[in-house]
Amino acid sequence: SLPIVAIIGRPNVGKSTLVNRLAGEKAAIVHDQPGVTRDRTYLPSYWGDREFVVVDTGGLVFNDDTEFLPLIRQQAMTALTEASAAIFVVDGRTGPIGADEEIATWLRQQKVPVLLAVNKCESPDQGLIQAAEFWNLGLGEPYAISAIHGNGTGDLLDELIKHL
Ligand code: GDP
Ligand code: MG
Repeated sequence: SLPIVAIIGRPNVGKSTLVNRLAGEKAAIVHDQPGVTRDRTYLPSYWGDREFVVVDTGGLVFNDDTEFLPLIRQQAMTALTEASAAIFVVDGRTGPIGADEEIATWLRQQKVPVLLAVNKCESPDQGLIQAAEFWNLGLGEPYAISAIHGNGTGDLLDELIKHL
């Protein structure tokens, strides 16, 4: 069976937009409302001659048990247990926030290789500065990307397939 790549992150950072780009079709639900993707969505994808399946997850929030958050959290954690690698998506416009640090702490305790994608970096120069702010998450090199426009996703995928 194909390796699974889990797309993880807090609400509204662009996880579903990245999944759409990787899968090359508008299959996942993209919405401005945080936490809209409640179920996991699996989509076939490839880079070069490497095939894999991307799984979109709902916005991961620790330390808040309102409404569907515990269910979404469980779904994201299950997605990670199935995954050969994960892409942790953060928002280059907001910079790192506490919710990212909580997710990073959890991810560092997992055995799955994690790539850190700093999304919403449309400007190449600004993107490098935005991405550098995320070194402190302790997950290695932050990759500046724009899920909407596709900037930087090639470098991210080059690195990703090394782990599959
Ligand atoms: P999710 O909640 O993490 O799945 O995030 P979505 O993919 O639903 O996107 C949340 C919001 O961020 C939407 O308004 C998207 O249009 C916007 N967004 C996603 N990717 C990018 C990007 O690369 N650049 C910018 N500027 N906005 C983005
Ligand atoms: Mg989503």
